[in-house]
Amino acid sequence: MEQNAPILQSTMAEPTHHRKPSSPRIAPAQAPAAREALGWLHTARFLTSASRIEQLPQGDLPEIAFVGRSNAGKSSAINTLAQQRQLAFASKTPGRTQLINLFALGPRDAADAYFADLPGYGYAAVDRGKKLVWQQVMADYLEVRRALMGVVLMVDSRHGFTPLDRQLLDFVAQRVRTGEVKLLVLLTKADKLTKSEAQRAVAAAQEVLGDFVTDDSDIGIAPFSAMRRLGVDDAAETLRAWIASAPARVEFELPPAPPPAEEDPAA
Ligand code: GDP
Repeated sequence: MEQNAPILQSTMAEPTHHRKPSSPRIAPAQAPAAREALGWLHTARFLTSASRIEQLPQGDLPEIAFVGRSNAGKSSAINTLAQQRQLAFASKTPGRTQLINLFALGPRDAADAYFADLPGYGYAAVDRGKKLVWQQVMADYLEVRRALMGVVLMVDSRHGFTPLDRQLLDFVAQRVRTGEVKLLVLLTKADKLTKSEAQRAVAAAQEVLGDFVTDDSDIGIAPFSAMRRLGVDDAAETLRAWIASAPARVEFELPPAPPPAEEDPAA
């Protein structure tokens, strides 16, 4: 890639074959980088839920947010990346669906990143009041959350971007353009598409995302299937590389407390 060229990568998935293979296929060897990235993702564990960003931990750990319409395949993608059956379904338990659910990654005693699973959106039945609350929570989080360094947006590959997906992108657009926040769009359920349909879905997404591309932005698009494990290794490597590129964690130590003020004998 040319230096300084705007980056808008797309990783095409393997073509989907619907016929049975005539002989057992041997799975291709996994690249060491993918294995390492998946090992890291497997450490993900539920940490806490928050209804507003003020309730999230304030620190310097880099954070990656997962966003998407309800039913886009967000939970399946998170579970597949983390190789855990139930991890993101914790976010679907009653009372937690409208919350930001935070996961920690890395060694148990020294987490090195957070994943934030943001509330799914787009339920037709949701009333206006709830939609406004959703808008406020998402806008606050995406515009303000300092630790946010990457967004993974799940878009159903058969439907493409919805108006709410675009609205959500608008909340974070400025930070994506400056490169402060990286963006990966996973075109989910790609197993349901033929190869040419997948190519068209990627082209359509590229068109939408063209608005956000600058010399500084880091934007990727990839077909993804939790069911067939398409695009999983590439997505894992991307997230791992994002975190590796984050500025080193700064530990703040409190300065020693000043000695108690001595009484002024002259007073
Ligand atoms: P969420 O609401 O965005 O968290 O979506 P879920 O992960 O719960 O998935 C919504 C529906 O899509 C469920 O019925 C899943 O079984 C289905 N689904 C998720 N990922 C895939 C996939 O890769 N391929 C197919 N065919 N279906 C999927």
